[in-house]
Amino acid sequence: MVQDSTIEEINVVMQEAWQAFHQYRQQSLSQRSIFIRTIALELEALGDELLRVASAETNLPEARLRNERNRTIFQLSSYADACEQGSWLEARIDTAIPDRNPPRVDIRKMMIPLGPVVVFGASNFPFAYSTAGGDTASAFAAGCTVVVKAHPAHAQTSDLVAGAIFKAADICKMPKGIFAHVHGTGHEVGRALVTHPYTKAVGFTGSYTGGKALFEWGNQRKEPIPVFAEMGSVNPVFLLPEKLQQSAEDLARMVVGSVTLGVGQFCTNPGLIIAMEGEPLQRFLQILALEVKNVNPGTMLHPGIAKGYTEKRASALSQRDVDTIAVSSAGASPNQGVPTIASASAQAFLNNPVLHEEVFGPYSIVIRCKDIKEMIEVARHTEGQLTCSVMATDNDLLANADLVEALKNICGRFIVNNVPTGVEVCLSMHHGGPYPATTDSRFTSVGADAIKRFARPICLQNWSDILLPDELKNENPFGIWRTVNNELTKDAIK
Ligand code: NAP
Repeated sequence: MVQDSTIEEINVVMQEAWQAFHQYRQQSLSQRSIFIRTIALELEALGDELLRVASAETNLPEARLRNERNRTIFQLSSYADACEQGSWLEARIDTAIPDRNPPRVDIRKMMIPLGPVVVFGASNFPFAYSTAGGDTASAFAAGCTVVVKAHPAHAQTSDLVAGAIFKAADICKMPKGIFAHVHGTGHEVGRALVTHPYTKAVGFTGSYTGGKALFEWGNQRKEPIPVFAEMGSVNPVFLLPEKLQQSAEDLARMVVGSVTLGVGQFCTNPGLIIAMEGEPLQRFLQILALEVKNVNPGTMLHPGIAKGYTEKRASALSQRDVDTIAVSSAGASPNQGVPTIASASAQAFLNNPVLHEEVFGPYSIVIRCKDIKEMIEVARHTEGQLTCSVMATDNDLLANADLVEALKNICGRFIVNNVPTGVEVCLSMHHGGPYPATTDSRFTSVGADAIKRFARPICLQNWSDILLPDELKNENPFGIWRTVNNELTKDAIK
């Protein structure tokens, strides 16, 4: 049984995080990288016991958790590599031109860490977006200290992972306070963390309500801070006419696989499918219905999520002009999510904001449009999304440039002929999107660019070489990529 932290304990934790920050930020990129890699090793060393505890707490199968842990280890080591490689520092140097009229002084810029970062663990990724997940790894890479609020639905898993981070900190002789782990089942702990004067940024993945509350607290502070919240998304999938005509059956199978994957508990779950009425859509719906009926309900992450799914699904299905196309034919036990597909006309969707909301679980609604103009109208009236997908031939895309432009405007990742579930951890990934998908569409929470969320630029003007940070010294001792007088180079400055 875990104990909630008291406000006094939060105060101590934040003070230690603040003190440790001033030591940790001085450590070299390679010292930070070694620490992050050691966390990965310690996470692995927790062995199958971690998987058993996590599976018991989250109802996720051990095989899925094994994959997720591997992904988390990869994430830690790839962010460690990126940290050391240093491109995220965005080092820029414009050397002095004394004989220019007017003369130019020496100006250099790089990213520096923000300060202690508070991370809220996500229920649907107990490893990859929780205690030693992407937010924690990117904050450490940036040179920030980290305080994690464990997700109450997997508190013991979080304790075990926190133990691995403490051990890594010990091995690497990191300052006390570099990492802290707190519990809180009410909102008081979260509020105390976000509003604490020593907190300088927040990372969150979860509900719109939770993310928005944290964002508002962050902004209402005497000193406002960035709150990077990844919240809801319905990830629309547009089926364009030529592709639908050619591949209706294959598309239906692909979509059902994505909607029901992991009991639909992914932020990239496709909750909205848009197509033009006609015979190809009928074929698509027929296979969609057959396939969904064959998918068994699955136990959801925690009773709160199951309750949320049951209520939101019931609300969506009870809306005027919404038809239920298919429901899993297997009986459901308590806390299980029942795979469900609904359908409505474009006009019904455009007139009813309830149909735009995320139903977190194995649910999707097919929107039937009369023509391409209505599809564009739907795109233009859809809120900010993590992803948009189009199933399309090249002809479809060339013929529908307006739809393509409308979709670019609302999403962070634009996918062609693929489903949105499955988020690769790589530098070119963008996992973010316009509000309300996230609170800041300029940043990603997946891929090493996530480090930039927890750093800010500082410009150093007219400093002598000996006093500059190593990353900006003429000699370039770490051999990092820098933009020197507008050219990207690793060369030293002569
Ligand atoms: P959640 O309710 O947003 O909770 C996530 C974390 O934020 C928890 O630590 C929670 O603490 C805290 N929190 C939530 N609301 C708060 C508030 N108003 N003030 C302070 N702290 C707050 O997410 P969840 O429990 O994982 O799932 C609930 C729903 O979130 C799901 O049904 C789904 O709709 C959505 N969800 C979306 C995504 C996504 O990626 N889009 C992922 C997961 C969940 P407490 O538990 O103590 O409140």
